[in-house]
Amino acid sequence: MSVTLIGAGPGDADLLTVRAARLLGQADVVVYDRLVDQSVLDLARDDAEMIDVGKTPGRSSSQESINDILVALAATGRSIVRLKGGDPFVFGRGGEEMMALRAAGYACDIVPGLSSSLSGPLAAGIPVTHRGVSRGVTIVTGHLLDGECNSFERLANPDLTLVVLMGVAHRAEIARQLIAGGLHDATPVAVIERAYTSTQRTIRTHLAALADTEIANPAIIVIGAVAALALSRLSAELATASW
Ligand code: SAH
Repeated sequence: MSVTLIGAGPGDADLLTVRAARLLGQADVVVYDRLVDQSVLDLARDDAEMIDVGKTPGRSSSQESINDILVALAATGRSIVRLKGGDPFVFGRGGEEMMALRAAGYACDIVPGLSSSLSGPLAAGIPVTHRGVSRGVTIVTGHLLDGECNSFERLANPDLTLVVLMGVAHRAEIARQLIAGGLHDATPVAVIERAYTSTQRTIRTHLAALADTEIANPAIIVIGAVAALALSRLSAELATASW
């Protein structure tokens, strides 16, 4: 297999799959994103060529140029690993890269990774579902391709957990729409910044206060009753009826 798309997980290298670690350690070339933790990159061979195609919001290698780089590398016949933060198919545009490679006649394999959408809440002791508290989870992006805010009003459902990726910039509008859609303005919210990295931080708030809460990217926003839970603490608090 000339190109393998690999999910790097949310942060620390020890959250990689065994398969991902093995293939990464064998690759001739590693093409990686901004969100991939240094501890993961350290698993590449010392003589591997490391190519940073990191996309910082506002200053990006375009997706088309990344696709072109991958196709050109595939043509060299070397073993290429394309490392993406979290899982390659959860808002990772891994599908587009795979299609570009296929269209150019190159095989592409894929290795799943732990998505920040499900592991990030866990880093703060939040179960995304919990019997009697949340009967499901919806994972959404905060912003659309054109930079506009996604539609949240129809997603207002007190029985479900909402996990928002890429929601920091539109957090005021997200909260406004969810309250307009019927969620209580005291609905618990937890924000997990840089989950499973050395600078992880959790912020607990509620919907009405989300707009005024300072948050830095990358962060996931968890909205719903489970966001009040902190099961990793010794004195695990169960959601109270205070909201
Ligand atoms: N494929 C990735 C998501 C890519 S979209 C995955 O499955 O996790 C990028 C967004 O993911 C960020 O804006 C942020 O919302 C979220 N994210 C990725 N890694 C994160 C981390 N370690 N901590 C918190 N949020 C993270």
